[in-house]
Amino acid sequence: MNIPENICKKCGFCCMEKLQTEKAILINKKRACKFLKKIDNNTYICSVYDKRLTEAPWCMSAVYAYDAHALPMACPYVEILGKDGYVGPRLPRDEEEEKLFKNTSIFHFMEDIKE
Ligand code: SF4
Ligand code: SF4
Repeated sequence: MNIPENICKKCGFCCMEKLQTEKAILINKKRACKFLKKIDNNTYICSVYDKRLTEAPWCMSAVYAYDAHALPMACPYVEILGKDGYVGPRLPRDEEEEKLFKNTSIFHFMEDIKE
């Protein structure tokens, strides 16, 4: 399947830390791949996009990220690859869910997002 690159909304969610809980896969907006750069509250870009495959061996293609349930339901790639049966990650809904992220970071390439 030919997947276009220019449909990305730059939400950055696919590059942020995730946590699988009993209820859902949660997205941590405070921690992400060290190459994710915050532009504003809704816009994040990859600072090594053109050389990400050599700089970031953990970086996932859209299809791989879809298979890993790393793309939120609103991601345009999910529209293309299929919403039926797909469960995407979501943001925490309350403080209790936010707290679950404490001490969960296990990936060396994740860093706190700079404000
Ligand atoms: S989740 Fe989708 S729209 Fe958001 S940055 Fe990743 S690929 Fe782009
Ligand atoms: S290297 Fe990959 S995972 Fe990291 S910010 Fe860039 S696109 Fe996201």
